[in-house]
Amino acid sequence: MAEANGETSMEVLEGCRMPVKMSGSDEWPLAEILSKKELPSGSTHYYVHYIDFNKRLDEWVEEERLDLNRLQMPKKEDTKKINKGAGSRPCSPDRELVNGVGSGRPKAPVGRKRKANAMDKSSDEIDSQDSPKDLPSTPPKTGSMRQTGSMVQDRSHDDIVTRMKNIKMVQLGKFRIKPWYFSPYPQELTLESVVYLWEFCLKYIKSFHCLKRHKEKCKLRHPPGNEIYRKGSVSFFEIDGRKNKIYAQNLCLLAKMFLEHKTLYYDTDPFLFYVMTEYDSIGFHIVGYFSKEKESSEDYNVACILTLPQYQRMGYGKLLIEFSYELSKFEGKTGTPEKPLSDLGLLSYRSYWSQTILEILVSLKAGEDGTPPAITINDICEMTSIRKEDVVSTLQHLGIIHYYKGQYILNLSKEILDGHRRAMVKRKIRIDPTCLHWTPKDWAKRGKW
Ligand SMILES: [Zn+2]
Repeated sequence: MAEANGETSMEVLEGCRMPVKMSGSDEWPLAEILSKKELPSGSTHYYVHYIDFNKRLDEWVEEERLDLNRLQMPKKEDTKKINKGAGSRPCSPDRELVNGVGSGRPKAPVGRKRKANAMDKSSDEIDSQDSPKDLPSTPPKTGSMRQTGSMVQDRSHDDIVTRMKNIKMVQLGKFRIKPWYFSPYPQELTLESVVYLWEFCLKYIKSFHCLKRHKEKCKLRHPPGNEIYRKGSVSFFEIDGRKNKIYAQNLCLLAKMFLEHKTLYYDTDPFLFYVMTEYDSIGFHIVGYFSKEKESSEDYNVACILTLPQYQRMGYGKLLIEFSYELSKFEGKTGTPEKPLSDLGLLSYRSYWSQTILEILVSLKAGEDGTPPAITINDICEMTSIRKEDVVSTLQHLGIIHYYKGQYILNLSKEILDGHRRAMVKRKIRIDPTCLHWTPKDWAKRGKW
């Protein structure tokens, strides 16, 4: 470590670490410089990753926000990696997992309900979405793309480009949202201050002017595919990744802005996409979605799952999960989401599993002779389509399973029961299986997707 003094001023390089003032908080967590850029004004801006925080908080900061008195130069090995352009920084635990307690971190960015300002750059619409061959042909190198996979990624390959957010702002319907992660949109879009998506076909458009033109042309007011569920204003559409390739690819590009580990953007053929919408007089607005392999050798019932930021914390995440298990029930099998789950995804699943299992346990009746109610793990799996390992881990996580005199005992404390009751009161929207009109297809028998 060297000290900055009058004679030799230290250059802040990629890989340097120092405390940095985080946006929207008074904290100065340790951060690493991932990139820097000279502005026309002559000042330098730095792209930083806060070491113990989720990457969605990475940001550009001005030099004043760096604590240069505590500058740590990159270690030798780090410099080598950076020169190779493949910093394989070990992943840091996400502090956000701790329910956001104590870290004083800013809240995850949420879409602001602002009207589009009439930015008219009179630039041409990017009309490259009509055929798959016109999409950016080579996916950015985020490691070897698993052909069958979705969000599993070898972290050692996340290179310098994909480590940085590239889209500044995205407008989707009436929402303007700040992306959380890199997404492989065409390079030219990264220069725009706002990227517009037409909310029904998800086509990306680089100016407000072109968006207006596209609106007049595009008759779509709901996702393509079949509407397989409707109750109240909530609908689900099933989209075949082969039949509606462009839509599926656009959906994946949108989703990648909010999912850190997702590698599927191009080969959508082996997947079905279930898009959840909210209906109003304008149309069916996308709220979230999950993808699912047509054939899964490991009985995954979800590949990627996302509630868009503007709809988070409103119960929609759990509704998506509930729907995925409802499909599994129709198929007559248990399922589990593909791993790794994102930090927010894991929280939603834990909560869904707990509530679903507790709902069954509290409804159990004692035997007529007064024997305590009993149930097997397999019964729970059958009733919920939740896979056995997930049932067991949930019971352990809740701390209600105990081994006593040769058998397992479930002990529901008053605290657990009260907590469960409160949670269920809050969970107002639910999936109604009678509103699902769907027959599972046996994709294995069809030979070709
Ligand atoms: Zn369109």
